[in-house]
Amino acid sequence: NTSMIHRDAWVEIYLDCIEENIRRIRGHLPRSTQFMAAVKANAYGHGDIQIAKIALKAGADLLAVALLSEAIVLRNQGIKAPILVLTPVLPSNVNLAIDYDLTLTVFQATWLKEMRQYKKSTSPLKIHLKMDTGLRRIGIREKREWLEILPLLRYQDVNLEGVYTHFATANSNDTSYYDKQYARFEEMMEWVKEAGISIPYYHCANSASSLRFPEKALDVVRIGVAMFGIYPSQQIKEEIPFSLQPALSLHSKIAHIKKLKAGDFVGYDNAYQAEDEEWVATIPIGYADGWFRCFQGMDVLIDGKKMPIISKICMDQIMVKLPCKYPLGTQVTLIGRQGKEEITLYDLAEHIGSVPQEIPSMITYRVPKIYY
Ligand code: PLP
Repeated sequence: NTSMIHRDAWVEIYLDCIEENIRRIRGHLPRSTQFMAAVKANAYGHGDIQIAKIALKAGADLLAVALLSEAIVLRNQGIKAPILVLTPVLPSNVNLAIDYDLTLTVFQATWLKEMRQYKKSTSPLKIHLKMDTGLRRIGIREKREWLEILPLLRYQDVNLEGVYTHFATANSNDTSYYDKQYARFEEMMEWVKEAGISIPYYHCANSASSLRFPEKALDVVRIGVAMFGIYPSQQIKEEIPFSLQPALSLHSKIAHIKKLKAGDFVGYDNAYQAEDEEWVATIPIGYADGWFRCFQGMDVLIDGKKMPIISKICMDQIMVKLPCKYPLGTQVTLIGRQGKEEITLYDLAEHIGSVPQEIPSMITYRVPKIYY
């Protein structure tokens, strides 16, 4: 959206970092394991089309998205790789899935029955079955549910291409729950094998599982965070024999600067009061850009130094306290590095009690992305 370029706030994304991360992750996994790049939620805020293209160039075999509409966007951009939709799709949308050659996640017998009432095409619907081994989000939990689905899979109008599960604690130092989930998935894979159905793709591993337990990668891994250079945990960062490069940074420029007198207030609700004469800059980025109000109190980088965001974060602007006067247009880094200083997604996540991938995922359409 070119109209959005006319502002001094932008994201920089280094596609070669993503390419290199994918190569390193692949190199860590068995040769036969395929790579599914998770590009849901606009590729965790990095731009789904660009990331899907670079991931496929770097050797990814398949793509995963959360929503049917995310998959359709990729197909409309000419992406031909298999795309798995990870979250439930309405049975009434089955024809879209077939027309766009998408693979759906299925886990309810009722869904398969209802879908048949809508299905027009004679081509089979490609599906992966989701097993719930402990996350308790979506999936088949009991053998009874599987036995209810099994006869429905014998029809010609579905093509079962995969069976998968998702871990709740793959990044936790304590692996006991992970081990339980993996063992349960092994039992569930046996149910499918006992039924005499051959499945091209059994899969379970997200980034954390793939990095820590490459021997449990099975036929395909589903990689999100690690591809973007985000470690799933500090322990995993220390354990793995290679590094990951963060691909994203966020920048702006000083739009206004003024010298406050002692006692002057700054921002909504007079949330900050100058104790002394102070230089304060205004930076044109705010919560409607994804720079949440809960980032109040965080630093930004200016002139290679950390400087605090003061007062409340506004919808479109923030105020930053400076040690001295700086020229208008001086670059401000909100995520990323300036010289020896860095503000990381981990710093921001810690400040708001979240995970690092939440932060780029929330950067909004108002912030243009520049790809290198
Ligand atoms: N698989 C599923 C089902 C997911 O929901 C996600 C993301 O949450 C992923 C894989 C990718 O996980 P990660 O970003 O931790 O690699």
